[in-house]
Amino acid sequence: MGAAALMAAPALAGSVVSAAGRKGTADQRATAAPRLNISFQEGTAPGENLAQKFDWMEAHGVTGFEPGGKNLGARVAELKNLLRGRNIKVTAICAGFEGFILAEDPAVKAAFDSSMRDIIVAAGELGSVGVIMVPAFNGQKPCRPHTLETREFLCEEMGKLGEFALQHGTTAILEPLNRREAFYLRQVGDGAAIARDSGSKGVTCMGDFWHMSEEASDYGALWSADGYLSHVHIASRGRRIMPGEDGELDNYVDGFRALKEMNYEGWVSFECGTRGEREQTVTAALELMREQWARA
Ligand code: MG
Repeated sequence: MGAAALMAAPALAGSVVSAAGRKGTADQRATAAPRLNISFQEGTAPGENLAQKFDWMEAHGVTGFEPGGKNLGARVAELKNLLRGRNIKVTAICAGFEGFILAEDPAVKAAFDSSMRDIIVAAGELGSVGVIMVPAFNGQKPCRPHTLETREFLCEEMGKLGEFALQHGTTAILEPLNRREAFYLRQVGDGAAIARDSGSKGVTCMGDFWHMSEEASDYGALWSADGYLSHVHIASRGRRIMPGEDGELDNYVDGFRALKEMNYEGWVSFECGTRGEREQTVTAALELMREQWARA
C-alpha cells in the first residue's frame, strides 16, 4: 500500500516524495533549475481575511498555503471553496494536534494518536504534502527518556503513522527544532534518519531555516535529508521575523543552493512575524528570497 495513494495525491506530484521512491537517481532529476515555490502560513499575507490574503498572494506569485491543523476537518469545505479557481495549493499542515507522540501518560499519547490521525485525514482531502509534527517539546512532560529504546519506539510509532498517512495520500513530517524548544530532535539529518528507520514512505522530514541555527552548514543539513525532505520553513535569522528584517544575517544562499542541486520541488513556507509594516516587509522578503534563489 502506498504507491497508488501517493500517485493519486495531486499535491505530492511536484514534491520530492514520489511514488517512484525516495531517492531519485541523478538521471531522474530534472535538468532545468527548479523554481522557488513560496508558501505562506495563515497570518503571513496582508489582508483582513483569508480571501483578501489569497488575493494578495496571487498578485505576488505566492502559490502555496500552509494552514494550521487545529480543527482542520471542520475547515476542509471552507478552504476548498476559498481556493477554488485560484493558483494556490495547500502545502503542509502546521501541527494542531493534541498531546505528543513520546508522552509517557497513555491518555496524552492516545490524544495525540486520535487528533493527529483526524488532521491527516483532512490533510489528505486537501491534497497536502503532509502534517508537521514535533516528537516532544522541552516543556511537554512526562516524556519518554532520551534513550535508544525511545528512539526505537519513535521509529515504530512513526512507521504506523506513516502508513496511515499514505492511505490518505499524505505524509507525517518530522520537524527538527532548536535545542531551546525541543532537545529531542534538533537536526535535519536526524529527522531524515528517523524517517528512513520508520520503514514507511509516509514519514518525511523538513528543514526550518530558523531552527537550523543548530546546523554547522545549511547546505550540508538540507542535502543530508535528500529523498526525505518534503517541506521547508523560513524566517529571518536573528529574531524570527520577515526574511530581510535582520539584515546581513538573512542569508539563505547556501541552503537554497542545496535545494536547487537536490531539485527540491516542494515549498519554502514563511513561518514568522514582522516588526515592520506588513505590506512592505512581506514584499521585501519575497524580493530577497527570489534574488538569493537566483544567485544560489
Ligand atoms: Mg517551523
